[in-house]
Amino acid sequence: MSLFQLTARRLVSQAYCGLKAAASKKQKVCSEMARPSSNMADFREVFAKAKHIAIITGAGVSAESGVPTFRGAGGFWRKWQAQELATPEAFARNPSRVWEFYHYRREVMLSKHPNPAHIAIAECERRLSKQGRSVVVITQNIDELHRKAGTKHLLEIHGSLFKTRCTNCGNVAANYKSPICPALAGKGAPDPETEEAVIPVEDLPQCEEDGCNGLLRPHVVWFGETLDPDVLTEVEKELDICDLCLVVGTSSVVYPAAMFAPQVSARGVPVAEFNMEATPATNRFRFHFPGPCGTTLPPALARHQTEIIS
Ligand SMILES: [Zn+2]
Repeated sequence: MSLFQLTARRLVSQAYCGLKAAASKKQKVCSEMARPSSNMADFREVFAKAKHIAIITGAGVSAESGVPTFRGAGGFWRKWQAQELATPEAFARNPSRVWEFYHYRREVMLSKHPNPAHIAIAECERRLSKQGRSVVVITQNIDELHRKAGTKHLLEIHGSLFKTRCTNCGNVAANYKSPICPALAGKGAPDPETEEAVIPVEDLPQCEEDGCNGLLRPHVVWFGETLDPDVLTEVEKELDICDLCLVVGTSSVVYPAAMFAPQVSARGVPVAEFNMEATPATNRFRFHFPGPCGTTLPPALARHQTEIIS
């Protein structure tokens, strides 16, 4: 074994354990470091000192509000899953079908509400802002439940069900109309036997910018599309300044947390996961709180005894 290999091994070992120590003590620390803590009191200590908190949220948070994702077992709309409809190719081939799918998803959201996890995050942002501290939510969810709960500083990396983008002029606009256009009224039923609406392009949602009349599409990131570089720049800025990062309702081996959490952790910033189960990536983080985030998150983000609110 070369000197380089020995040195490298020692460096890795020290980085992993976080300190140089006697063999017995070192072993103990190693086993402790390898397992993230689920000690809420310890998390609360870190939380009380944090000035810039970044919260990365994923599908698990929406699932606890009963929002269908049309992915995985049983996740079908008619005979398709999201990855067959949420693509630029599917929209080019059959804009009527894709709009029926999104119209259905928008209408479903009328009956869905933020759950205790959404509410705890929004309440935490409101409270901490009065103390000169910041919270940012970086989400892959397109259902706007964070916004509905009152979250202000929100980066929707996958866009929103309630925004449209013109395929002609590129204009992006908020759109909460129900139905989004007369031709889609009563359409979009999810049952496999439903007859397709086959709506002509001129009757699908159209751009309202002066003289444009272009076909609108949902302002969401589809499979095979890249994330908006402006949103990504914002995300990078927030991850660079955060001094505590929470990963909620998504595992850290799954996108988007897989892209962001390891870079935060590599800076030595504490990362806390709140999700159903541990994954191999979990061991790289300071904390892991298993279980439904609607149960685990509210006590984690509640007012700390040291917080002074004027
Ligand atoms: Zn337009």
